[in-house]
Amino acid sequence: MIDPDNNNPDAEKPKPPGKGFRLWWVYIAALLFIWIVPLINNANKEQEINWQQFQNYILTRNAVEKIVIVNNEKAEIYIKKEMQNDSVLRKVFNLPKENNLVQGPQFYIIIGSPETFERKLDEAEKNFSANDMVPVSYQKSTNWFWGIVGWVLPFILIFAFWNFLLRGRGGIGGGGGASIFNFGKSTATLIEKQKSTVTFADVAGLDEAQVEVKEIVDFLKNPESFTRLGAKIPKGIILIGPPGTGKTLLAKAVAGEAQVPFFSISGSEFVEMFVGIGASRVRDLFKRAKEKAPCIIFIDEIDAIGRSRGKGAFMNSSNDERESTLNQLLTEMDGFGTNNGVIVLAATNRADMLDAALLRPGRFDRNIYLELPNIKEREAIFKVHLRPIVYDTSIDLHFLASQTPGFSGADIANICNEAALIAARRKKAIVEKIDFTDAIERVVAGLERRGNIISPSEKKTIAYHEAGHAVVSWLLKQVDPLVKVSIIPRGKSLGAAMYLPEEKQLHSKTYFKEHLCATLGGRAAEEIIFGEISSGALDDLEKVTKEAYMMVAYFGFDKKIGNVSFYDSSGQQNMGIQKPYSEETEKIIDEEVRLLINDAYTQAKDILEKNKTSLQNIAELLLKKEVIFKEDIEKILGKREQENEASPVNGN
Ligand code: ATP
Repeated sequence: MIDPDNNNPDAEKPKPPGKGFRLWWVYIAALLFIWIVPLINNANKEQEINWQQFQNYILTRNAVEKIVIVNNEKAEIYIKKEMQNDSVLRKVFNLPKENNLVQGPQFYIIIGSPETFERKLDEAEKNFSANDMVPVSYQKSTNWFWGIVGWVLPFILIFAFWNFLLRGRGGIGGGGGASIFNFGKSTATLIEKQKSTVTFADVAGLDEAQVEVKEIVDFLKNPESFTRLGAKIPKGIILIGPPGTGKTLLAKAVAGEAQVPFFSISGSEFVEMFVGIGASRVRDLFKRAKEKAPCIIFIDEIDAIGRSRGKGAFMNSSNDERESTLNQLLTEMDGFGTNNGVIVLAATNRADMLDAALLRPGRFDRNIYLELPNIKEREAIFKVHLRPIVYDTSIDLHFLASQTPGFSGADIANICNEAALIAARRKKAIVEKIDFTDAIERVVAGLERRGNIISPSEKKTIAYHEAGHAVVSWLLKQVDPLVKVSIIPRGKSLGAAMYLPEEKQLHSKTYFKEHLCATLGGRAAEEIIFGEISSGALDDLEKVTKEAYMMVAYFGFDKKIGNVSFYDSSGQQNMGIQKPYSEETEKIIDEEVRLLINDAYTQAKDILEKNKTSLQNIAELLLKKEVIFKEDIEKILGKREQENEASPVNGN
């Protein structure tokens, strides 16, 4: 995602509407209110008395003006004005002298039922004259205050809890501020014109992709040249490619070159735990974009919302939110006219997961595939990333590119930085070739772990294991050329044989078979030399199993299965649940995979048996030197029949 802090200090963030509004103060005020009002209410409170007190001191003394029975549960007693300062009443009920009891009720009695109360009252008033009889009335009263509190308080509490949860998640919508009122607001970062510092000059390789996105830039700068001829510019462009191939970088460059407002958001920022928020964020984003048109919206990692609808729905009902967000996105992309100047750019490395409706022409009508860079492109990427580095200019960049096949642009950027760090650690004035090769090795195989405690017998096993890989791969024609064998532990591996893979688009069945054989060479060597195998071949076995299954089930390399592929490039099938083949076929696949691996293992053992002395010589040399190179192996096994130029890939 575009980082506004790096390039655009002024990048506009959506302002929370309730800015400065401190919700906590509302909660505190509400609580104080709830606490204080009853205290005020209680200040002029009537006194509770029992029936005997009432009869003996109040009723018989003819002091009652009236009785009001409230809610059939409480009899409120009002004292006659002239009796309010009566000394007996004052004494019995302990009333303060200056107490001026003007307003009633002054006393109350909790009654069982109005009938009983009235019966008792009638009984007590038996001897009263008609004039002295106390009038009794009934009243239904509602305490509005507590009624309201009872209704409002739960909402306040739910609100507070909700807000607390969202604050706990780093504020609503990440960059959108922490106000609860900011929910449905889009969290996209707006980069205004002339603010992005990245240009197409910073993007190396990716020529075809650059042509496509440059067209967008041209359209935004000069729409008439397209519309004049009746052409419609694509509404959306989706960049698809493995991680680190420069999708985000390309989008940043578009922002830098287009000179139009650029909204950048990550797909995951739409997703919240409440249904409907994502959809409203999409609506808001497009509303903001339309206000700023012509402009570009960039959605990074669009697979977070654009995943095929209904997929996995039976397992997870929380799909609703993602689906409604996606539906909204589909609607918005259909909703604006082609030429109104809002162009959506999206990036993903999981195109197979995306909903077909999203990719259809009219929404994302152009799919741009970014591949891992080839040797020429890697050289260009090295050039870009070496710009800020003080390095030995005699270093052949073609050599560095040849050492890094299969590396992405991000890997190369990392190597350049790593090399500079290594050189700085070595207190050098400039970064040298050895720093780069060490950095490459570090990225390929991980950090050296010389401190690992390895017993001499373990070391011997590792040396023979690696020598096994070296001998088998050296003697098979189609296996990638070996460059180096090491028994220094690095990363997770205890030793490694490094190859330079050829940059080919197609590989033959023989290549795969020989590759299986070379990968099993390590275990075969252990068996031949020690008569015992170890757990050190775990990684090899994992690779071999995956590759063998691919050969049989995907590439149609197996005679029994035939030219059939169960590969699903659309990603619509869930192979774990619905297998596209019968149980019988499944059994054949398993058998054929086992046969393939067994054959490869037997072949590896044959090769090693025939070259046992060379195997021992290489292993001994490894134990002595820890790291040996192609030249050392050449001295033992002779020149290899077929060689290729290319980079080290770990094969422990
Ligand atoms: P992801 O799919 O993981 O998000 P991405 O394809 O978006 O990855 P970027 O973020 O664009 O990858 O690339 C990461 C970094 O790699 C960039 O910042 C840049 O330094 C470097 N890089 C990648 N490709 C190139 C390239 N073609 N030219 C120069 N630098 C590149």
